[in-house]
Amino acid sequence: MSQDIRTRLIHHDYVAPAEFESPVVAVHKASTVFFPDVAALRSRRWVDKSGYTYGLHGTPTTFTLEARLATLEHARHVLLAPSGLSALNVVNQALLASGDALLLPDNVYFPSRDLARHELARWGIAHRVYDALDPSTLDAALGPDVKLVWLEAPGSVTLEFPDLRALVRRCRERAPQAVLALDNTWGAGLAFNPFELGDGLGVDLTIHALTKYPSGGGDVLMGSIACRDSALHERLAWTHSRMGLGVGANDAEALLRALPSLALRYHAQDQAARRIAEWAQGQPAVRRVLHPALPGSPGHAHWAGLCSAAAGLLTLEIDPRHSVEQVNAFVDGLQCFRIGWSWGGPVSLAVPYQARFMRELPTPYEGVLVRLCIGLESVDDLIADLGAGLARLG
Ligand SMILES: *Cc1c(COP(=O)(O)O)cnc(C)c1O
Repeated sequence: MSQDIRTRLIHHDYVAPAEFESPVVAVHKASTVFFPDVAALRSRRWVDKSGYTYGLHGTPTTFTLEARLATLEHARHVLLAPSGLSALNVVNQALLASGDALLLPDNVYFPSRDLARHELARWGIAHRVYDALDPSTLDAALGPDVKLVWLEAPGSVTLEFPDLRALVRRCRERAPQAVLALDNTWGAGLAFNPFELGDGLGVDLTIHALTKYPSGGGDVLMGSIACRDSALHERLAWTHSRMGLGVGANDAEALLRALPSLALRYHAQDQAARRIAEWAQGQPAVRRVLHPALPGSPGHAHWAGLCSAAAGLLTLEIDPRHSVEQVNAFVDGLQCFRIGWSWGGPVSLAVPYQARFMRELPTPYEGVLVRLCIGLESVDDLIADLGAGLARLG
């Protein structure tokens, strides 16, 4: 070996002893990965995670995160994507071709609909919507061209919980060629098992915006795609790799650090949101409280029949006598609740919405909707903040 310091600091002969264990997983950073010889360069496989080939194809850090997420999701295989939305898109691109159609629930996470409308449409892929609370509306939408059906439980913002078993059964009967994909961000792997819904029914894959609960900090963007079937996983993995998607090692580390407290945070935010939902039901300015665990909330019975927990989200439908401007002022005036997208972090958030701009099908919501994501503050402080705001609203 050369004695030139420039070379010696790169090609060094010290190798640290292998036996090192601590609570945290090492942060392996790499674009280049070394091979001992050309034969290894030619033969190593990354797709089944039996070896390392290139940073984009996985490191011990990302493989470990994927394995832990597979356990969380009740799945066997997991891929990481730079955001929840990009995870959705990997699924679309892997499974759809020109001439195919995909189905979306009308209460889908809005950017997913925008992706179909503006990007997939340009590639000759059509989308149709169904009413998640009425499985019979699938009949008109399902045809031989449908290769992918998205499910979401509950719906975005309005939180209607669908009868997932009925939706899956109907799709299996009428469109056996279609892959069934669930956006599992709300359930987070903790509220229910989408691969085993009962009666032998389950979805084929899930995506999860790790940005939300698994991150828990409001500071990391990441998504995952989870499935049980190895052939489906390989299909997704090849598309994922050809699209050049990867995640940063430090972001993977942040996720690995946050996962051990995931269940504690999820359940604490669940309890807090339920207390706030029950309190809000008695408020004169609130026409209705949307939260799947509340009796009377749309789809409550479906939630109760499937789930053991709920995410810390609720939506207030403000009495329609209050104008959009008044409700905006209510949100502006909140002190603990900050205004911003996303959820699952430590800070409680509020965003106003108007249902008529979000849906293609008619909705029963006439008042302005205020979506609340509950953070980790004292619940008494959050209730006092909302109470003062609603009192100002009158
Ligand atoms: C936030 C979210 C996404 C997208 O996640 P990003 O990481 O923000 O791209 C997808 N689906 C649902 C239900 C979400 O809440």
